[in-house]
Amino acid sequence: MNTEFDVAVIGGGLVGSTLAATLASNGLQVGLCERMPITHHPQPADTGRAFALSVGSSNLLQAVFSQNVLAGQGQPINEVKVSEGLPGQGARPWVLEFKAGDIGCENFGYMIEERFLQQEINSVVSLSALVQRLAPTQIVRTEVKPAHISLFTDCGDELIARCAIACDGASRALARANGFRFHKKDYGQGAVTCTVRHEYPHDGIAHQFFMPSGPIAILPLPGNLSSVVWTESLERARYLGTLSDAGFLAELLPAFGGFRGQLELSGRRQGWPLAMSFSRQLCDQRLALAGDAVRQIHPLAGQGLNYGLRDVVALVEVLVEALRRGEDIGSSDVLERYARWRRFDSMTIVTATDSFNWLYSNNNRLFELLRLAGTTVINHSPQLRRAILRHAAGMSGDIPMLLRGEMP
Ligand SMILES: Cc1cc2nc3c(=O)[nH]c(=O)nc-3n(C[C@H](O)[C@H](O)[C@H](O)COP(=O)(O)OP(=O)(O)OC[C@H]3O[C@@H](n4cnc5c(N)ncnc54)[C@H](O)[C@@H]3O)c2cc1C
Repeated sequence: MNTEFDVAVIGGGLVGSTLAATLASNGLQVGLCERMPITHHPQPADTGRAFALSVGSSNLLQAVFSQNVLAGQGQPINEVKVSEGLPGQGARPWVLEFKAGDIGCENFGYMIEERFLQQEINSVVSLSALVQRLAPTQIVRTEVKPAHISLFTDCGDELIARCAIACDGASRALARANGFRFHKKDYGQGAVTCTVRHEYPHDGIAHQFFMPSGPIAILPLPGNLSSVVWTESLERARYLGTLSDAGFLAELLPAFGGFRGQLELSGRRQGWPLAMSFSRQLCDQRLALAGDAVRQIHPLAGQGLNYGLRDVVALVEVLVEALRRGEDIGSSDVLERYARWRRFDSMTIVTATDSFNWLYSNNNRLFELLRLAGTTVINHSPQLRRAILRHAAGMSGDIPMLLRGEMP
């Protein structure tokens, strides 16, 4: 077993695995440590969970992984409709409608089921000669030395790398142990995710209905399937988790509405307690954070993974550039460049999702008027609409090369 790497990636979730594969495709030796065993199955289980990938994330995946994964398993999102509603009463008249053509794109990105995305990423990682995957291996402690960082595993092994990137999700044990501080807010809400098969086609349209208890997103998948992310109070979300499929469908129908005809469940249902948490600090000596390890946001905009992938592309660009210049890739100077690039964008999405949830998840008349005013302004300002859409698509600001589909 090799124990010395250019970069050690801690956490083999979607962000850590994509980071490992992208660094390796740029010639770096990577140790990828994941505490859970990695399963390979030709027909992975349907988790009832799917991701909305922005145009930028789709470009990255097509550059690093197979060109075909999104074409084969992904569903282009052609249009997004946002409205308010009350269960059983349908959508209210003020609706925001966004078409991909508004920003000169063919689509807003793709919806893809978690199982297909994970399977594609796992197979690319396992074929890469430059990635050594250590799983199940938990990193329990790190120690910074003058020229490297040592990572100690739960089996008592020591791994050595020039820098370590913690992609260990919202648990963040390593960052906390290294003195990073996090701000946290529990939303008192829970999300239920599932896939439904419906009678009528979706035409690639994604819907978001804001209800007083939280939003419900209905997102198109290939065929007559849609992924549902249904936010409710934590108590009600827990109750929904106790119901049989038939009981759950009976509760879902009034929130979903009848616009897609008959519904039936496909695959599993899962429940997620929702919280917002973040760190302003993105790096320390020889250690940087990426993905949910930096920020955990409300899923209402479907942006958590997209922002994690933006961390990935910024990190890869900074590290590859530093290597070309002959710099020490674990030095504070180099990692601070990454932190400067990502800090503002990261705080923007934390604030935006938190504010949206606060503004929309209630029944207050004053907030209702504010929402109506906001919707009217957005609908009458093509420039503002374009700016919002380009940002959500990952196509605004200082765009790393990989988000444009180019290798650094
Ligand atoms: C309901 C819901 C819907 C969502 N929908 C979308 C969407 O449509 N689009 C989108 O962009 N985002 C979405 N998100 C957000 C997205 O799920 C997350 O942002 C993303 O999965 C985070 O990936 P990650 O790899 O950073 O973290 P994780 O997936 O949490 O992975 C962390 C990994 O690190 C491992 N690990 C932890 N500690 C250690 C250790 N010490 N040693 C070794 N391994 C360790 C864990 O086992 C885990 O595998 C959604 C989130 C929710 C809750």
